[in-house]
Amino acid sequence: KDFRNEVRPNWCPGCGDFSVQAAIQKALAESGKEPEEVAVISGIGCSGRISGYINSYGFHTIHGRSLPVAQGVKLANRDLTVIASGGDGDGFGIGLHHFMHAARRNMDITYIVMDNNIYGLTKGQTSPTSAQGFKNPKSTPEGNIENALVPAQVALSAGIGFLAQGFSSDIKQLTEIIKAAIAHKGFSLVSVYSPCVTYNKTNTYDWYKENITVVDTIEGYDKTNRIQAMATVMEHKGLVTGILYQNESLKAYEDLIPGYKEEPIVNHELPLSEDFLTKTMKEFV
Ligand code: SF4
Repeated sequence: KDFRNEVRPNWCPGCGDFSVQAAIQKALAESGKEPEEVAVISGIGCSGRISGYINSYGFHTIHGRSLPVAQGVKLANRDLTVIASGGDGDGFGIGLHHFMHAARRNMDITYIVMDNNIYGLTKGQTSPTSAQGFKNPKSTPEGNIENALVPAQVALSAGIGFLAQGFSSDIKQLTEIIKAAIAHKGFSLVSVYSPCVTYNKTNTYDWYKENITVVDTIEGYDKTNRIQAMATVMEHKGLVTGILYQNESLKAYEDLIPGYKEEPIVNHELPLSEDFLTKTMKEFV
């Protein structure tokens, strides 16, 4: 169960994404998965390269579209553990609508976002999660004038069933979170504060360490209470890590499609028969 392959990541030394890659590989191995049971689907950006760095099925898709492809993969083969991944620009900018609908749709996939508060691949422009006032000497020298999006608030508003956040400096916590997200039956978001050491000189490892609160240290925190989760996220401006919310009673999308359980597309001979296609299409209208 080795989820490492021989491809050397071309991330900058010190990039937070290395830790996320390691945590995913460890979580998959400790969850007892085999490489052929897993598909990693990624979007565009530095972090989007991750699908090529994990020994599993992989698909490096187009900008912001990892979730539609991941949902298609899951529908075609429900036996796969499907992980979608990408960065904050990819997932919370161009892909935000896909994220919100995936959260409310509740298909059984795990979405891992590496949030570095900028667009790293294109040299540090502000992203949807850049703070108001954030400065980048080249692209935003006078400071960002827009309000930052708080992904955890969006996720809770969209009715997500599993919400967690991690930090690249804490691989142990991140691994446990990803294992829980994979085990959760339904859509799960693991949003990771993953510093860009090259283009973001504001949200550094030290800055996150000073500003992050670990949810387990909050007395009386109840991860099944959505209102408390929202209040905590708002109080900490999103900077809180751990499993923030989990609702295990929500039914996954796959369990609600009549007939789906008997007819996974992957088990059919090609070309698909007209009867099968007609029956399948009826399940979706
Ligand atoms: Fe990581 Fe930033 Fe380098 Fe991209 S530019 S690989 S996000 S450190």
